[in-house]
Formats: sequence, C-alpha cells, structure tokens
Amino acid sequence: MVRVRFAPSPTGALHVGGIRTALYNYLFARNKGGRFLLRIEDTDVERSKKEWIDVITEGLRWLGLEWDEDIVFQSKRLGVYQEHAMKLLEEGKAYYCYCTEEEIQEHKEIARTLKKPFKYPRTCLKRSKEEIEAFEREKRPKAIRFKVPEGKTVFNDLIHGEIEFDNSEVEDFVLLKQNGFPTYQTAVVIDDHFMEITHVIRGDDHIANTPKQILLYRAFGWEPPEFAHLPMILGPDKKRLSKRHGATSVTQFREEGFLPEAIFNFLALLGWSPGDNREIISKEEMIKVFDIKNVNKRACVFDINKLLWMNSEYIKKLNDEELLEKILPFYEKTDWFKVEEHIDVLRKIVPLFKTRVKTLRELPEFSNYFFTRNYRYERKGLDKHFVDPRVFEILEEILSEIISLKDFDKESAERVVREKAKQNNVKAAFIIHPLRLVLTGKTVGPGLFDIMDVLGKDEVIFRIKRALKELRGFVPGKTAYPEGTI
Ligand code: GLU
Repeated sequence: MVRVRFAPSPTGALHVGGIRTALYNYLFARNKGGRFLLRIEDTDVERSKKEWIDVITEGLRWLGLEWDEDIVFQSKRLGVYQEHAMKLLEEGKAYYCYCTEEEIQEHKEIARTLKKPFKYPRTCLKRSKEEIEAFEREKRPKAIRFKVPEGKTVFNDLIHGEIEFDNSEVEDFVLLKQNGFPTYQTAVVIDDHFMEITHVIRGDDHIANTPKQILLYRAFGWEPPEFAHLPMILGPDKKRLSKRHGATSVTQFREEGFLPEAIFNFLALLGWSPGDNREIISKEEMIKVFDIKNVNKRACVFDINKLLWMNSEYIKKLNDEELLEKILPFYEKTDWFKVEEHIDVLRKIVPLFKTRVKTLRELPEFSNYFFTRNYRYERKGLDKHFVDPRVFEILEEILSEIISLKDFDKESAERVVREKAKQNNVKAAFIIHPLRLVLTGKTVGPGLFDIMDVLGKDEVIFRIKRALKELRGFVPGKTAYPEGTI
C-alpha cells in the first residue's frame, strides 16, 4: 500500500512551498488509495514552537488535507534515534566525533580560504586510542558521525530521473549531536522506515540530502523508498518565493479572503497539469487524474493575479447563502456593526458583489457605503459625469419624483430614472453614472437600481439632497471640489 507523509518543521508559518508539498502527497495517496500521514519534525527544540504546530494542523484542515493516522512527533522518539545511532556505531558504520564547534569552524575557515567546499576531514576517525581515552577521561562531549562508504549512490527520482552522486562528495555527516538529539538525516530515515513510507515527495532542495539518506538505509539494511523531488516555486522576479513577495502563508491567504478550494486548485497546478488546458478542476477530479510523472522538473512562478482570478471564480460558484456565511467574519472584523442585527440587509448586499470581488475581504471594502454616509466622491467620476449642468436639473426632478413615490422599490426607482432621462432627451447613462456617484461615491459597482433598492427611499432622498447642496454649481477643474473628494 502506498504510504506518504508531509513532514514540516514547526519553526514558522505554513508557506506556499510547504502547502504544495502536502497537497501533492495528499493527491498521490488518494489517487493510489494509499495513506497520507503527518509527521512533525520538532527535534530542534529551540526553534520549534507549539503555536506553529497549531498553525500547520489548522492550515492543513482548512485546505481539506486531512491526514489518515495519528500525528508522529519526532521529539517523542529520541530514544529510537539514539538506539539506532548506537547500533551503527557498534557495527563500525559510525564513529564518535569529539571535535568542538570551534575546531569545525576552523576547518570551515580553511576550506573557505582555499575556495573548496567544506567536508569534515575525518579527524576523529584518525585519532589514536590514547587520544580517545584521554577525551573520555575528561568527559569531552561527543557526537556520532556516519562513516560514508566509498562508491557511488544512484537513485531514480520519479520527477528528475536518474541522479548519481559520488560518495566522495558526501561528508561523514552527524547522526547524533553532542546533546543526544538526532540530526534531520537520522530522524527522517528512521521515521520513514518505521512509518513504512513508500514514496518520499518533497521539495527539490532536499535532493542533496537524498544520497546521505540512501546510504543510511543501506547501513541499516533497509530498503529505501522511492523519491520524487518537486520543483522550486519562484516569485515574479524569478527569485525563490519568500515573504518579500507578499502573502505566501496559509494564515495570510485565509485572512485576505481566499477560499481553500481556490488555493487547492491553484497550488495543484503550480508544477503539475492534468495534461489538458483545464484550469478549474475539482479536488475529486484531481485525485482521479493526478500523476507524479506529470510534475514539471523546472521551477515555476507564483502568479498572484492568477490566484486572484481563480479565487473570484470560486466565489462565483458559491450560492448566495454560502457566500453570506463565509463573508460574515469579514464584516465582523470591520467593527462597523453587530452583523447579526444586519443579517437581512447583508443578505441583499452580498449577492450584488458576488461577481465583482476577487477576495472575500474586498466585499466589506467595496460595500462600505451601505453602512456609512461618510464616503467620499471619486474625483475622476466628478470630472467625467458632472460636466453638463443639466445633471443637476435632472437630479432635482428625480428627487421630487422619488419623494412622491408611494411604493419605492427597484422597479419604481428604475422607472423614475429612465423616464426623467427620456423627458430630458438624454441617454439613461447620462444620469445613471452621476447618480451612482451621488449614492455611493464610486464610479463602479453593482446595478444602480439594486443599490437604490437596498438603500431605501429615505436614504436615497437624503443622499441626493446632500449632493445637490454640496455639488450645485460644481464645474470640474474650475470650482473647488467638495471636501473629502478622492
Ligand atoms: N522537515 C523537513 C522540511 O521541512 C522535511 C523534509 C523531508 O520531507 O524529508 O523540509
């Protein structure tokens, strides 16, 4: 049975690269009817934090990347790593290293001066018995190093094909540090073995670690799993994607109002394609067609505009009630009002913006004028739509007609506006644009008559009256702009 794992270190947020690794592992497992496991690599006690574990698990759940078995925590398995390192030591496949941090630094310095890559010079493998006994007497701290055998290490990467390393390029890496903690290489191999991992799917920054790990498998007498190394993700400037490029963590995506389905779809296509030009693909469909062999070798660029587009597509797919439910926390965050007291008006507003927003967070922003009279006029709208003084006359006429309306609703509002345009021999747009600006301060937005309907008769009257007072006599470029114009 296929068994894969996602193995994050809880030393920071869950970023795009990590999510995509988790996602490909998940798709691979589901496609093969296998298991997707989660392992927390928390042996670096200083940098690992409980809160990051929560961020990771919540993020994975939010994205629908549920793991199938109990989480494995490396920090709880120190004894297993120590025992296995000792075994290699006893079998002569590893040795104690008494070198101090300073001594190692010195060697690194020398390598730097000689412009050579640093490789541990096997100092402790060559020590005399007397030297070792002296160190033992003074209880000098010691690490355990792996003795890299001669030869070549070759593996067949499922994405990159055959990769070969000469073992002479691989240094005698540390298995167990002086403090008794394992290094990443040790813990990863031992855990992948005992978790019965069949395929290791991870970022291609781990390619260089793979020969070390394969050598360890062999030393233990275990069969290595298959390896698949995913291409790097770059920012638009073709540099490795990082925080500099803006929002890249799950938490940020969530706060900015991205839907998990959109992130899922977008990241799945970042390096993989189902073989046709489809861009919007459901999770179920992806599970069906996912094939690790179709993953790109080359790095791919993270395009935020594409993600925004995809998110808007997923927002459009929601029905009005679903969208309302998802949007409430974003209105709550604005602190404008108690959302539960305004649920009816929100129920009317939210669908008006469904096709107009790219993120959920934009919705309160775009609809602010429904909740405040304190909006500003867009200057470019004034410049464009208030040039002809007839605008004021027609607004005046619309106002008195609305005041006398018995039943004010979307239809009657539309009738009044269109009639007045006709009577004045102008196109409806001649008055629709300035009226939108008067009622919302904006040049774009949902249909004017929908807006009027939601605002209601009294509010429409108030806003037209106020605008007539503020704007009468206004001539773009000549008279002063109303205060607060933006
Ligand atoms: N903890 C490692 C990382 O986050 C895991 C690498 C691996 O999958 O082997 O990069």
